[in-house]
Amino acid sequence: MSNSTSYDVIVIGGGIAGISISAVLSSTMRVVMLESESVPMYHSTSRSAAMLIENYGGSAMEQLIRASRPFFVDPPDEFCTAPLAGRRGVLTMAEVGQESELQLFYDACKGVELLSADQLQQRISNLVPGKFTGGVLDSTALDLEVDRLCQAYLRQFRRHSGKLICNARVTAMRRKDGQWTVKTGSGECCAPLIVNAAGAWADDVAAMAQIKRLGLVPHRRTAAIVAFEKPARREWPMLVALDETWYAHPEGEWMMISLSEETPMQPCDAWPEDIDVATAIDNFQQAIDLGAVTKVIRSWAGLRTFAPDRCPVVGFDESAKGFFWLAGQGGSGIHSAPALAEAAASLITANTYPEWLTIAPDLVAELSPKRVTGEFNS
Ligand SMILES: Cc1cc2nc3c(=O)[nH]c(=O)nc-3n(C[C@H](O)[C@H](O)[C@H](O)COP(=O)(O)OP(=O)(O)OC[C@H]3O[C@@H](n4cnc5c(N)ncnc54)[C@H](O)[C@@H]3O)c2cc1C
Repeated sequence: MSNSTSYDVIVIGGGIAGISISAVLSSTMRVVMLESESVPMYHSTSRSAAMLIENYGGSAMEQLIRASRPFFVDPPDEFCTAPLAGRRGVLTMAEVGQESELQLFYDACKGVELLSADQLQQRISNLVPGKFTGGVLDSTALDLEVDRLCQAYLRQFRRHSGKLICNARVTAMRRKDGQWTVKTGSGECCAPLIVNAAGAWADDVAAMAQIKRLGLVPHRRTAAIVAFEKPARREWPMLVALDETWYAHPEGEWMMISLSEETPMQPCDAWPEDIDVATAIDNFQQAIDLGAVTKVIRSWAGLRTFAPDRCPVVGFDESAKGFFWLAGQGGSGIHSAPALAEAAASLITANTYPEWLTIAPDLVAELSPKRVTGEFNS
């Protein structure tokens, strides 16, 4: 980066949030995307379970996920010709004794089917007999092609002459004469507008700009791909324990298993703890009989970052001109990204939404950082 190269907007962060909004904004603006790591998508974005689940994440998030679905199912030809999603379904299972919780969960979901214990057993023959009382099947859930989605956004970004700079951790920022100047290890750049898409580090980025933190907290979640004596059935839906002690879905003949934990921590390159991997596998084995583990193929952990009210934070900061938040997507940053990127970009440019996107007019206003600054004082 040459000294103080000038752009219309600087996007900080090269995860799905930064990549998707950069791609959208670059059609009308000169955009630079700055990423700390040597490659984009290094942190949370490459560590997800890669699912779209409509009944997930609370009301605002559910609207964004539903609004994103048409984009995943039938992406615009110029964006990507290969599929971005495949059918999977998600089956949430309740143990004997959890009947009332199951009913509450069923009542809160849309477009789902309530299954009896017998129906569960018919669908998933390897269930440990007598353990489950019933379940809720959401057949609309999809497997997502996360890497393909990100690569398509990056192609769109480059076609529009957007510039991605890796190894460019932002270390300082100041605003003067209507311009933000941002310092990185690779030089400086400036623009009247900053988009803070720094994931787990979004509060640290705000603090560099002398802007109040919003109380965003990263939470670690662990996952592993595990081979058992018996193969998994490729046609199984994602399986979720109602009490959130594990979830799993087939990866070919193996299973991807997560502990579903939320361990609050500082922003970092998250690493799985052996005990969490072992507990996830043990919880799974108490529910599903695939015999003994033959190999843990790989394990990983990633950070899911939440605002205090667990809604994403999207909009201009009231205290600093030209500072835009796109953070706090928690466990939903991938399946909400197409709608969220367009909605956020439209707040910035005042452009209208593309044809495929339908969201309630006041939804994005609900996500404004204003609601959080009123609650959280540091
Ligand atoms: C185990 C697990 C399962 C999940 N499953 C799903 C799922 O099925 N579906 C779904 O939709 N979501 C899922 N998620 C959540 C999803 O992964 C996240 O919501 C999403 O990836 C967040 O994207 P992001 O771009 O905000 O953050 P990140 O991908 O972390 O990107 C932020 C980027 O900002 C960069 N950065 C930070 N500070 C600076 C700085 N100072 N200068 C320059 N760059 C900086 C970082 O290096 C990082 O690359 C899951 C997450 C986990 C951990």
